[in-house]
Amino acid sequence: MKLHFYGAAGIVTGSNYLLETSQNKVVVDCGLFQGTSRMEKKNLEPFPYQPKEIDFAFITHAHLDHIGRLPKLIGDGFNGRIFATRPTIDFARLMLEDSQRVFEKKSVRRRIVSQRNSQQIEKAMKMFQPVEYDQLVKVNQNISVCFREAGHVLGSAVIEMDIEDKKIVFSGDLGSTDTPILRDPAKIEEADYVVMESTYGDRFHESKEECKNIIENTTEETIARNGVLMIPSFSLERTQQLLYHFNELVENNRIPQVPIFVDSPLAIKLTEVYSRYSEYYDKEAKALIKSGDDIFKFPGLKLTLTTKESKAINDVPPPKIIIAGSGMSQGGRILHHEKRYLPDSRSTLLIVAYQTKGTLGRKILNGVEGVKIMREIVPIEARIKRIGGYSSHGDQKDLIWWLENIVQSSSPKKIKKVFVCHGEEESSSVLAQKIRGDFNLTAEIPQLGEIVEL
Ligand SMILES: [Zn+2]
Repeated sequence: MKLHFYGAAGIVTGSNYLLETSQNKVVVDCGLFQGTSRMEKKNLEPFPYQPKEIDFAFITHAHLDHIGRLPKLIGDGFNGRIFATRPTIDFARLMLEDSQRVFEKKSVRRRIVSQRNSQQIEKAMKMFQPVEYDQLVKVNQNISVCFREAGHVLGSAVIEMDIEDKKIVFSGDLGSTDTPILRDPAKIEEADYVVMESTYGDRFHESKEECKNIIENTTEETIARNGVLMIPSFSLERTQQLLYHFNELVENNRIPQVPIFVDSPLAIKLTEVYSRYSEYYDKEAKALIKSGDDIFKFPGLKLTLTTKESKAINDVPPPKIIIAGSGMSQGGRILHHEKRYLPDSRSTLLIVAYQTKGTLGRKILNGVEGVKIMREIVPIEARIKRIGGYSSHGDQKDLIWWLENIVQSSSPKKIKKVFVCHGEEESSSVLAQKIRGDFNLTAEIPQLGEIVEL
C-alpha cells in the first residue's frame, strides 16, 4: 500500500492524500493551495495522478483548502462517490460557489476555467454521499470508513479508514475541547498509521473564556475611543463562534450596545446552515437553544447581504463593529473597511484567524507601517490586536491529547508511524519532536509529493 502526500505536506494548504493499493485508489480531501500567488498557481497544475483512476474521495470538512479542487478533480475525470457528513455537503456548495466567484473576478483566462468549474460543482453535489458520525460505512469489500467528530468546524470529521487489514486515521483539521457550539473531538481508538495536522503544533492558545474576555475588553476600549472594531473573519466557523460570544456579551450587558455588522454574504448563508444542524451542537449550545435563545441573533446585529447594504455601513457613525471576510485580508469586503479605518488611531483591527505566510493579514500582524490595499498605500495607525485562541485548530496541548487517546488504546508497537502534516516547517517539527519524546513513536514530516510505503 502506498500513501502519497500531494498537499498539506510541509505546508498548511492544498490537503490531498492519495492511498493506493493493488485494488483501489482513493483520495482524502482535495483542497486548494492558498496564500501567495505562487502557491495559488499550483491549483491550475494537473494532478500528479490520473483522476479517472480514483475510486472514491473522502472529505474531512468543508474548508476550501480541503475541498476547493474537487471541481477540477471531476473535470479531469474523477467519477466516483464522495463521502462527507451532511453539514459538510451543504457547506461545500456555498464554499465552492463563492470560491468560483472570487476566481472569476481575477482574469479572463480564469473565467474560462471557472465556467467549466461551475458545471463540475453541480456534478460534485450529485456525487456526494452523506455519512453519519460514528457509523461504520462499508465502501466496498476492501475499504470501510468511520467518520468521527473532529471539533474543528460544524460537520468536520476525523476519518478512520480500514483498508486491507490496516487502519489509517486521517485527522483532518482538529479543534480543541472548548470550542463554542461544537462537540469535542472524538477519542479515537487504535491505529496502524496516523496522518495528523500540525497547524499550531508549536503554540498554545488562550482558552475560549480568555478569548471572550479579550473580545470584551477590546470592544470596550474601541467604543470608548469612538473607534471602529474591524474583525477579519473566516466565514465558516470563526464568524459563528464570534456571533456566539457577542450574543452572550450583548445579552448579559457585558458590552455597550453598538451596531455589529456581519458584512459577508457567504458567512450569512453559512450561519443559516449552522442553524439547520443544531443536533450536532455541544451540550451548552443545545441548552441555550432549549432555553429559547437564538444563539446567532441579538440586539444590534446587522446582516449586510447586498453591496448597497455593505456600502451603507460607511454612513453609520462610529463606534461600530464590523465582522467581514476574508479572514486573512486577501480580498473580500474587509479590505474596504481596512482601507478606511486602518489609518484611524481610534480604531482597532482584531485578528482572530490564522494568517498564512504572504497574506496581507500576516504583513499587518508582523507590524509593518503601511500596506497596499486596492493600489493605494494605507498607513497603519489603528491598534492591531490578536487572539490566537479563536482558531478552530487545536494547539499543541489539544493535538497531543488527541493522539494520546490513540496511543493509550493501542497495543504496544501497533502504531507504526505518525505522519505530521498540515503545518509550516517550525510547527510540524516541534510537534514531531514532542510526539517522539512523549510517546516514543516514529514521527515523520512528509514533503510535498512524497510517496511512502505502508
Ligand atoms: Zn479546516
